[in-house]
Amino acid sequence: MKDVRVRFAPSPTGALHIGGVRTALYNFLLARQQGGTMILRIEDTDQNRYVPGAEQYIMDSLEWAGIKIDEGVREGGLYAPYRQSERKHLYQQYAQQLLSSGHAYYAFDTEQEIEALRERQKAAGSDQQQYSSATRTTMRNSLTLGAEETKKLLDSGTNYVIRFKIPENEKVVLTDLIRGEVSVNTTQLDDKVLMKSDGMPTYHLANVVDDFLMKISHVIRGEEWLPSAPLHVLLYKAFGWEKDMPQFAHLPLLLKPDGNGKLSKRDADRMGFPIFPLTWKDPNTGEQSKGYRESGYLPEALINFLAFLGWNPGTEQEIFSMDELIQAFSIERIGKAGAKFDIQKAQWFNQHYLRAKPDAELATYLLKTLEQENIECTKEKALKICSAMKERIAFPQELWEHGKFFFAAPKTFDESVISKKWNTEARQVLTAFRNALKEMNAFDATIAKSTLEQVTTTLNIGMGKIMQALRVSITGLGGGPDLMMIMEIIGKAETVNRITFALDTLPQHTT
Ligand code: GLU
Repeated sequence: MKDVRVRFAPSPTGALHIGGVRTALYNFLLARQQGGTMILRIEDTDQNRYVPGAEQYIMDSLEWAGIKIDEGVREGGLYAPYRQSERKHLYQQYAQQLLSSGHAYYAFDTEQEIEALRERQKAAGSDQQQYSSATRTTMRNSLTLGAEETKKLLDSGTNYVIRFKIPENEKVVLTDLIRGEVSVNTTQLDDKVLMKSDGMPTYHLANVVDDFLMKISHVIRGEEWLPSAPLHVLLYKAFGWEKDMPQFAHLPLLLKPDGNGKLSKRDADRMGFPIFPLTWKDPNTGEQSKGYRESGYLPEALINFLAFLGWNPGTEQEIFSMDELIQAFSIERIGKAGAKFDIQKAQWFNQHYLRAKPDAELATYLLKTLEQENIECTKEKALKICSAMKERIAFPQELWEHGKFFFAAPKTFDESVISKKWNTEARQVLTAFRNALKEMNAFDATIAKSTLEQVTTTLNIGMGKIMQALRVSITGLGGGPDLMMIMEIIGKAETVNRITFALDTLPQHTT
């Protein structure tokens, strides 16, 4: 079997969309599983759409996600250069080959002439392809003008493009590894431009030439490229490269969460979740979009989530490390149907991976945030907070956002708890508990608990009845991690102060 060589071939026209990360991931998984090679090729031949910073952004994103590149712009490799703008001479050479073999031709038509063709077709009610075997005979190209006239035009520097001469009425069949047999008749294809008037190749020519030269074994890419695949097959044939043609796998679309249509940046913005792996500032508009990384997603969670958008292992197992994905992945288990983008599922994965992190790692994160907030905290306290909060958060920033009460007494108290639970019995228990604490020397979660048990037993009031009132007096909130542990972390003096403050400020006689 051919060596597995796959490529991720983005165009640096902006930030990498999350769907692009999935495409890169599937390529990477296959490469690693088969002991193959993962290539990053930058397809930057469309100079009008070039965006500065985009290439670097793509590389940074893949690196953050843990998708390692074996050959590429940065890594180099046997088939360098990996940036298409540096391979111009090659495309020119291969375009010449197609011209000589009669598979391509020069076309000199101006924009107006192309527009006139469009108008003629519209008037005739034709649903034919625009520039095709049916119409090329009516246009100004090397086929209609003849060799001499063509040479004259070329010599005088007239603008031209090179078009592919699509064979007439031929059935093109390709086997897609996901979709099975896909066939189309060439009457449905038009004579695509291969070389533009600026001397740059179009996507089609550069992509096919490079896949061939770089010995690509599998082309794994988004479904939006499926309509181009028959043209690519014809190009392989025209070049005489048929036996080296890669296998194709067109990945299902990523759909909006409700399944109605393709997921767009606008949908993501509207629903408040990121569409880009890392934060991106559009250099043209100045618009800043927050990334998955900056929103607190862990790369391993995002990878696990993306792997399941289109693929499944055929078992109940949902949690997969990158290594496990490499083991389990197979193109056969990728579905045809679009994959609904369910951000809640991404959060669920994130929560899982966050819980699995050692407290020390979370503590480092928390301490960094606290430093930015100018709040002092010992490592020991940070560790305890992380251990207490870990089960309750989905993102690392929530350690701080949901744990502010560890550092400051509440200024407000959850109204719904107060109205239901702040009653005479609660005040009685809280007063007695506070007084008992005042008398003590040693203090920790266990002591807090036994003291509270004693107080409630003595007063003959069920502990369950007053727990929420105690919690709200200490944290201001109706829910949170283990209350005894919270008291241990903030310490005895602070616990006493907070209960006293609540008793002094909250209404006396609510039942
Ligand atoms: N440059 C194309 C893109 O931006 C590559 C498509 C392909 O993989 O063939 O997605």
